[in-house]
Amino acid sequence: AKERGKNNYQFYTLAMTERSLERMTIERGLRHALAHDELRLHYQPQIDSGSGRVVGVEALVRWQHPEWGLVYPDRFISVAEETGLIVPIGAWVLRTACQQAKAWLETHGPFNCVAVNVSPRQFMETNLLQTINQTLAETGLPPGALELEITESAVMQDPENTLQVLHQLQQLGVRLSIDDFGTGYSSLTYLRRFPVQSVKIDRSFVIDLPDDEGSKTLVRAIIALAHELKLFVVAEGVETAAQLSFLKSQQCDSLQGYMFSKPVDAELLKPGLMSAEFD
Ligand code: C2E
Ligand code: CA
Ligand code: CA
Ligand code: CA
Repeated sequence: AKERGKNNYQFYTLAMTERSLERMTIERGLRHALAHDELRLHYQPQIDSGSGRVVGVEALVRWQHPEWGLVYPDRFISVAEETGLIVPIGAWVLRTACQQAKAWLETHGPFNCVAVNVSPRQFMETNLLQTINQTLAETGLPPGALELEITESAVMQDPENTLQVLHQLQQLGVRLSIDDFGTGYSSLTYLRRFPVQSVKIDRSFVIDLPDDEGSKTLVRAIIALAHELKLFVVAEGVETAAQLSFLKSQQCDSLQGYMFSKPVDAELLKPGLMSAEFD
């Protein structure tokens, strides 16, 4: 038993070393990516559940690595978060998304907004308000055309500070949304206090619709609660006609998912002019 314990320990440290090597490689690569313009944004449409019109798009970051190809955020966002690189990456994402949204507004006319993911560290360590102000001024995007997606976990790391920043952002006129709603702990207490316009139902609740009774109950409850609080509800990860029809039957306001489109290059989208066909 002793021998085995020892082997396990060696195995464990080896795995740890491999993981930290991978993390170091990613960290070094990300610094290079920032300096050499290897980051890209893809955009995923958000569909109004009544009209089928594209009312918004979510910006999602990718890394076009010269050897590895297109790298998805699941592989690098946590490293970026731990190392603080999420701050310059987040600033790049914000500027690029606002520039793109401004270009769309000019060529294709009005659409509701571009949604950008904001990480906890951007809230806690930077002057987010100033960054947003400056980016809007530089790009000429009206504040109402920008939506920030914030996760519950971000909010919970420092609720008082976050609340204050959220109020300032609201005064500026940008829209605020709680991402991955239902996966954190704070939902009910904070939902009432936070100056947000919408919540996004996490994909994990949508995936087993409409067969799973638990998911159905939860989604129904989230939508009813959000509507009671006059919030707009977006469902993410909509892939099937059955999920779509359940969400429509519950008056979910808008829908995002592979059923309509995967996240794609900006050139492939004309938000404001596009709609999905369904009944
Ligand atoms: P998220 O904010 O919850 O974004 C939704 C994710 O679900 C995206 O993955 C999107 O491509 C994926 N998705 C959308 N519809 C479907 C569907 O119908 N089926 C399936 N299977 N997946 C769907 P992605 O782009 O890989 O991003 C993963 C996560 O990385 C995001 O989750 C977000 O937390 C983070 N992330 C992405 N871009 C940024 C960014 O610019 N800044 C920060 N801080 N985080 C980001
Ligand atoms: Ca999001
Ligand atoms: Ca989400
Ligand atoms: Ca999610």
